[in-house]
Amino acid sequence: MGAEPHQLHVVLFPFQAHGHMIPALDIARLFAARNVKSTIITTPVNASTFTKAIETGRRVGNSYIDLEIFKFPAKEAGLPEGCENAEIAIKQEGLNQRFFLAVELLQEQLEQYLDRVRPDCLVADMFFPWATASSAKFNIPRLVFHGFSYFSICAQELIRAYEPFQNVSSDDETFSLPLIPHEIKLTRSQLSPELMGDKDHPMRKKMEMIKKSELESYGVIVNSFYELEPDYAEFCRKELGRKTWHVGPVSLCNRSIQEKAERGKEVSINESECLTWLDSKKPASVVYICFGSLVQFIAPQLHEIAVALESSGKNFIWVVRNGNNNGKNDEEWLPSGFEQRTEGRGLIIRGWAPQVLILEHEAIGAFVTHCGWNSILEGISAGVPMVTWPIFAEQFYNEKLVTDILKIGVSVGVKKWSRMPSVEDVIRREVIETVLREMTEGDVVEEMRQRAKQLKDKAWNAVAEGGSSYSDLSALINELRSYHTH
Ligand code: UDP
Repeated sequence: MGAEPHQLHVVLFPFQAHGHMIPALDIARLFAARNVKSTIITTPVNASTFTKAIETGRRVGNSYIDLEIFKFPAKEAGLPEGCENAEIAIKQEGLNQRFFLAVELLQEQLEQYLDRVRPDCLVADMFFPWATASSAKFNIPRLVFHGFSYFSICAQELIRAYEPFQNVSSDDETFSLPLIPHEIKLTRSQLSPELMGDKDHPMRKKMEMIKKSELESYGVIVNSFYELEPDYAEFCRKELGRKTWHVGPVSLCNRSIQEKAERGKEVSINESECLTWLDSKKPASVVYICFGSLVQFIAPQLHEIAVALESSGKNFIWVVRNGNNNGKNDEEWLPSGFEQRTEGRGLIIRGWAPQVLILEHEAIGAFVTHCGWNSILEGISAGVPMVTWPIFAEQFYNEKLVTDILKIGVSVGVKKWSRMPSVEDVIRREVIETVLREMTEGDVVEEMRQRAKQLKDKAWNAVAEGGSSYSDLSALINELRSYHTH
């Protein structure tokens, strides 16, 4: 009798923000479904993002994922107790920097864990550039996960390397991205100011460290699929020299209603009520509006959206994060009597929505999105055209992919990158109403819907057995096996 074959063990260490933790859980489930033992490292406050979904997986016997809890050094970094998620920290510049300091302090716990457990691979978030050196100490291959599209990996690298923004004389003048097969125009206002300013800025230095650690790591896991952006998958591999595996859309591993409703936080609406409401609407007649887990709009912007939704006469589901204290601050942003007047055709979800479940419903006709990459991929996987409303991070690149390359969306016309858009940045009601009409009536949206449906089919084919993402994951697992053997 031969010895039992070694079971691979992959450890995932996502950054403490929902846009990073949610896809990391899906990736862990993809590994687990291929008989690879998966462990997710998180911190006490963030553990609830994973526990329910892991229990459900265990109960139905389709995955076995372990959770490893690290203490989050909030106090040591000068943060209030319990401040363990970027969502809380991002609201204040001072907190944000301390949050990144706390994250750095996790290195020691990581090294102790790696020394003790000796997994076969560490998939660590881009925001932990030191993880490459930590895993090298124990000869463990480190993969980077940053949750970007191929296109935005390429765009960011080209902007960093060639600084095309130097060729224009004002913040609003457009410049083109060099070397790539599409004509993509951006302005300086749409880039993170840290990218262009002082070379000693802490965020710019951090981005340099991230890039260095990426090049020194074993490779990059990309939540995308080849058929979505083949030019940029090739560009990234051949021209930028990145070793990548695309395994997405990872959200498609959630098959049951329960799995889809348990992604991220506890939902603020009963999911069957939400589905019954959608069932009562005609196909492609409802606009879904959601700006992800981090964006927080000021009251005047929410007010403009409300007025546009009311005057458009369209059906809608609108997720409002500011309004999650049981409507106590409603009068700051919601026109009086709004919900009575839109009753039957509109639903406000205050807090957290079962996004994937909503997007997949045939009643959804368009998705107004902040262009977080998870949201975009979820929209594509559901075959829904989009209204793009980028705010910060790499969202302006994702917008270009949707509107200029894939041609499955229209832009609401945001001009300026900003973590907290201010009064001057408010998008007016007339503009919002125009795009709402454009995305629910006429031939243009119909053509976009056809293209979006084709991409949806390609996404499902990519993750099916033998598809491009399925095969890339197989290739990665085989490579990790042979790394272990040698
Ligand atoms: N999400 C959700 N319900 C909400 C808001 C967000 O399920 O009410 C999920 C969404 O489906 C996506 C993730 O949270 O998987 C947000 O990630 P994304 O990259 O779109 O944006 P971020 O929050 O990182 O800005």
